[in-house]
Formats: sequence, C-alpha cells, structure tokens
Amino acid sequence: MSEDIHPKESQPERLMQDLMSESQTEQPVPVRSLRELIDRISGRGMPFSAEEADAGLAEQLPFPFLALVGQMEMKLALLIALVNSSVGGVLLIGPRGTGKTTAVRSLVDLLPQAPRSLCYYGCMPEDVEVGGIQAVCPDCAKKYAQGESLAVLDRVRLVELPLNARLEDVVGGIDERAIIHERLRLRRGILAQADHNLLYVDEVNLLSNEVVDAILDAAAQGSYTVRRGPVSATYRSRFVLIGSMNPEEGKLRPQIMDRFGLRVVVRGLYGEKATEQRLEVYQRVKAYLESPRRMVNAYSDETAIAREEIQLAHEALLKVELPEKVANQGLAIISGLHIYSLRAEITLFEAARACAALDARTVVTPDDLRTVASMALRLRRSTFMTDYFAHQENEERELSALLTQQPNE
Ligand SMILES: [Zn+2]
Repeated sequence: MSEDIHPKESQPERLMQDLMSESQTEQPVPVRSLRELIDRISGRGMPFSAEEADAGLAEQLPFPFLALVGQMEMKLALLIALVNSSVGGVLLIGPRGTGKTTAVRSLVDLLPQAPRSLCYYGCMPEDVEVGGIQAVCPDCAKKYAQGESLAVLDRVRLVELPLNARLEDVVGGIDERAIIHERLRLRRGILAQADHNLLYVDEVNLLSNEVVDAILDAAAQGSYTVRRGPVSATYRSRFVLIGSMNPEEGKLRPQIMDRFGLRVVVRGLYGEKATEQRLEVYQRVKAYLESPRRMVNAYSDETAIAREEIQLAHEALLKVELPEKVANQGLAIISGLHIYSLRAEITLFEAARACAALDARTVVTPDDLRTVASMALRLRRSTFMTDYFAHQENEERELSALLTQQPNE
C-alpha cells in the first residue's frame, strides 16, 4: 500500500513547495532500509582498531562505498542509476578533490550480476533470438547449435573511458588479428565492452564532440553500428553512464547536458558538520592507504547486504507502478520550472520508481518524487528558450491579429 501524502488536488506552486522542500516534517518519512544503512555507516567511526594486522599484499581494491562520508545525494543518485538504467545515467559536477571518482570506483563492490559473453566479439544468446544464427560469429553459431552457453552470469564491471580515447577506440574498428587470418572483422570498442556494465567518463566536458555523441547515442539506443568498408557490425551497449566534470575547466554543450539523466552538484563537505566530517574523511583515507584490504574487510558485511538490496531492487523494478496522481504532481513541477525537454519526466519518473524499489515498495509515493526531484530536474531550465518562446508568442499574436483583420472576400 502506498501512502497518500497529498489527498487533495493542490496548486502547482504548493506542490513544488512541498516536493522541493527538504525540511517538510509534517508527515513521517517512510523507512528506507538501504539509505538508513548508508546513513548509519557513513556516520559512525571506523569499525576496526589500528593494531589489526595487515597482510601486506598490494591489491587494487576500491575504497568501500559505505565508508564514504556524507554526500548523501551523490550516493543516492549513483544507487538509483545502478537499479534503473532508464534514468539515463548520472552526471557529477564539481571541483577536484570532492570524491567524485572515488565514489564511482567504489560502486564496483555493489554491482549486481549480469550475463557476460564468453566470446571475443561479445556474442550473446539473445542476439540469436533476435537476429537469428547469422547474428553471432561462426564459433558462437556452432556453440549455440550444440547447446553450449554463449554467456555466463558475472559481476558487473566498471569500464573507464580514457581521456585520450579516439573514436576508433570507443566504437571499434578493423580487427588486425583477423586480418592475419585473411578475414576482415571488426574489433569491439569500449562501448561494446561496456555492455551490461558501468561506463565512467571522467572530464566529459573535455572530450571531443564525436566521441561524446557516439557514447550518448549508444547509451540511448542500447546498441550501435560500425561500418568500415565492406564490413559492418551492430553491437549491444546497454550500460549505465556516469560522467563527471569540473565546471572550472569548460562547459558542457546543452544538448549533451540534456541527455544526462541525474545531475548532482558535488560541493564536497560543507556546512555545520564539515569540520567533523572532514576529519573523519582524513582518518578513513589514511587508514585505507595504510591497508586497503583491512578497510574493505571492515565494511564487507554491510557491503554484502547493500549489494543484495540493490540486486533485489533491480529485479523488483518491473513491478513498481507510478500512480497517475503522483505522475501529475511530477508534471506540475516540470511545467512550473519551464522545462521543455521530455527527458525531464522520463528521468524523474524512472528515478522515483528506482527509489521505491530500493525501499522495497511497488508503488511510487510523492515522497519518492520529493527525494529525486532535485537530481532529476536541476540544470534543465533554459532561460534562452524561455525568452525565445516568449518573443515568438508575441509574433504569433500579432500575426493572427493581422490575419483576422483581413476581409474574407
Ligand atoms: Zn561469438
């Protein structure tokens, strides 16, 4: 059962106030297990003593997500993007040293499982189901015919796009290995490798236009086609896109900004608790640098619980419904903010559904909307377009006035 916080029809202004206000406390906020877990853990001290032994092994272990201090909105946006890829990814905007990259890398331990191709060319069983046996490589066609599996269930991975990536690296190109065997084949690019994974694009505002366009097209369509001379191939690329940028270093073109679903302005730690929190961050980072393994172990139980919660939410998402009344509230906010892009409501509603799923509910409530509205809708307004439309309306009015003045005969 969903709680109805707004039983009566309200005015858009009232709705905006209610939904955008963080301080609204009249109604009890529903329990959110995962968020509570994160809140509780990021607020407490380190759960191990400094004397604990370190095995001394050099390992590539990301900083635990649950050990990140504060920055609740960034954490929630990342979790929502993991649960529902339809939100259209996340863009983290902020200066250097505010933990953006650390937070993205830390997601690796929270990722649910996904099918992974066993083939160099990334053939998947569903390729055969959709496009027939021709849709996979000869090796996989043979395997499929013999009833062998083309994919296994595996943990999702974080694929990081290098800043110097060329278009050819991103979409793929002629495979030199195959040329040796007198076969012209295409090599999978980073986008195809990112299928079913997370794709992290740091400094997205510094990438070339052609590379960013290719990434955004693939992210939107879930697939892309490469043509090189006589050969062409279509690759699946259903990934969760996470971008980050430092606005000091350059603007992001409006059409690219529009295509990112959730937007988080990462200011780092500030406000009342900043001194305390910054000291805690320093201590945790110090402990992590001394022994990453000990740090990861200290949070491993809670990490396992969080991973389970995310997996369950991901599976439950299909069943989460958005009541018409809540949808109308969302549309009222969008219209109140003069946002024109239809991507606004897709992101808002899909994020609200993910929020409900993370909370193990099957119905979206106004509270879900309130929780995700800022991250889904900020930085979407265009003062240029608002002025442009206002000007255009004047012209239309003049035009229709002149037309009505003309005699019929
Ligand atoms: Zn294959």
